[in-house]
Amino acid sequence: MCYAIPGRVAGISGNKATIDYFGEKKTALLLDRNAKLETGNYVYAQGGVIVDVISEAEAKKTLALWEKRFFALKEKDDSLVATGTQNPKLSALFAKVRAGKPLGKDELNWLLSLRGQDADALRSFANSLRREELKNSCCVHGIIEFSNHCGMNCLYCGIRATRNMERYRMTEKELVAAAANAAKLGFRALVLQSGEDKFYSGETLVRAVQKIRRMGVLIFLSIGERDLKLYQALYDAGARAALVRFETSNPASYSRWRPGRKLEDRLRLIRELQKIGYLVSTGFLIGLPGEGEGELAENILLTRGLGTDMYSFGPYIPRNGEKEKPDLDRCLNAISVVRLVDRKAKILVTTAMETLSPEAKRLGLMAGGNSLMIDVTPEKYSRLYELYQGKYKPAKEEIAKTLALLNEIGRAPTDLGL
Ligand code: SF4
Repeated sequence: MCYAIPGRVAGISGNKATIDYFGEKKTALLLDRNAKLETGNYVYAQGGVIVDVISEAEAKKTLALWEKRFFALKEKDDSLVATGTQNPKLSALFAKVRAGKPLGKDELNWLLSLRGQDADALRSFANSLRREELKNSCCVHGIIEFSNHCGMNCLYCGIRATRNMERYRMTEKELVAAAANAAKLGFRALVLQSGEDKFYSGETLVRAVQKIRRMGVLIFLSIGERDLKLYQALYDAGARAALVRFETSNPASYSRWRPGRKLEDRLRLIRELQKIGYLVSTGFLIGLPGEGEGELAENILLTRGLGTDMYSFGPYIPRNGEKEKPDLDRCLNAISVVRLVDRKAKILVTTAMETLSPEAKRLGLMAGGNSLMIDVTPEKYSRLYELYQGKYKPAKEEIAKTLALLNEIGRAPTDLGL
């Protein structure tokens, strides 16, 4: 079993194709190299992008292994969906969402504050919307952290420049080898992540992206605020997605936590990347010390307003003397509220959530989330990319656990589509 199921091209219109997964249809974008794609071809798609075309024989071999399991997973997912609440206010808000009416900020704040049975009802409702909109598809991306050097000093970050820690940079050869290993493990989407490290020349990054792209994977960049010309060159080389979080929608707080930087520049970068054609994933930190009343709802609304392609948000990890971690309930409610305000959203259950509970992946997926990430950085480096204590987990063990979890809750690694 791997992390992607191939689909059959059922039709092509302009730069989009309809992909059929056992009768379920999803839409995906064509990459240039798929220009000769024809109806009837078999492809792998990730993040709504066709990343590889494979032979019918190869596809049928994989599909034969999946067919029975695919329908069993669907049944399982269906059986776990439950809705209903005794709370009339909650019931009225669910009806409002069903009617397609937008929720106001006060309503979002109230939903975010729910606990106990009401929170359970909110998460179940969000989970039912996830199933209606995106079926039981679940994206599992791999992440390779290729450098923990960073010129920035974001106060919430475990690898900020002023931290005294062992630093590393993977060579181009090591990065490409790590990607090849991840592709061999079955990953079809890889996040290439580093601090804001100007050490690598544009040529090195472009060459690495070209080589990795040839492995038939979706390349996500997470390299911070870099020159737009570099982002354009990497797009031309085959990268198609970028992870650029804004962390807080409060401009003053942004500049306090990211000294020397402005929120408006970050948002401009996100918009420029969208113009280049990147699928953009963005989001925020939950529980940043000093987070104002209503700020979480504003963060959610800003993410939605940016019209990006994926939500990525997680708890602030205390590293400045704070005694308490953010509240897991608040993080799970945030996943559910995002699902209510943006029904088709692709919502990543971030690995940082696991600092709050070992059950975070399952809870997040059952609260409306539909995407996961597994660290596939070579062990000797992953241990040094110290975003939080206990972050390192052996990739093979994580893969086995994740597959067991998807099996348990009825999710299949088909593409989420556009
Ligand atoms: S958040 Fe990013 S830019 Fe800021 S210190 Fe960490 S790695 Fe560097």
